[in-house]
Amino acid sequence: MKLYTCNYCYSEFEPTRRRVQKYCSNTCRSKAYHARKTITNTPTTQTNSAISTTLDSPPVETNKIESMSTSGVGNAAAGALIADGLKSLITSNKNKPATKGDLDDLKLLLTNRYLPINNMQQDQYGRSPFYDVETRGVVYLKL
Ligand SMILES: [Zn+2]
Repeated sequence: MKLYTCNYCYSEFEPTRRRVQKYCSNTCRSKAYHARKTITNTPTTQTNSAISTTLDSPPVETNKIESMSTSGVGNAAAGALIADGLKSLITSNKNKPATKGDLDDLKLLLTNRYLPINNMQQDQYGRSPFYDVETRGVVYLKL
């Protein structure tokens, strides 16, 4: 009599039916089925969670712009002077990343007390908004 080897517990067993049996018992057959099911499902679940994590995380562009602005300010001569105040002004304006021209203008103005604020309107007297480095506040000045 030929003995079969169980595909699950690897013990040898005598087939009880004429057709080929892969497992020694129904217990091994169902255990093997569940084990296979678990193995097949795990990678799929991981892939889905990986995708949703990517979708949930903020756009990479935002970080790029922020680090670019920060390094640009850091390279400027008086970077330390404006690090507290002006950096937050620049980085809060995420929709409008600082261009090469903006940074050049910034460098020219760093030695001055008043820095122009481009994302604010002029006041009722037609004066332009400036950031006062001394008081760290907004002031309106006639150009
Ligand atoms: Zn078995």
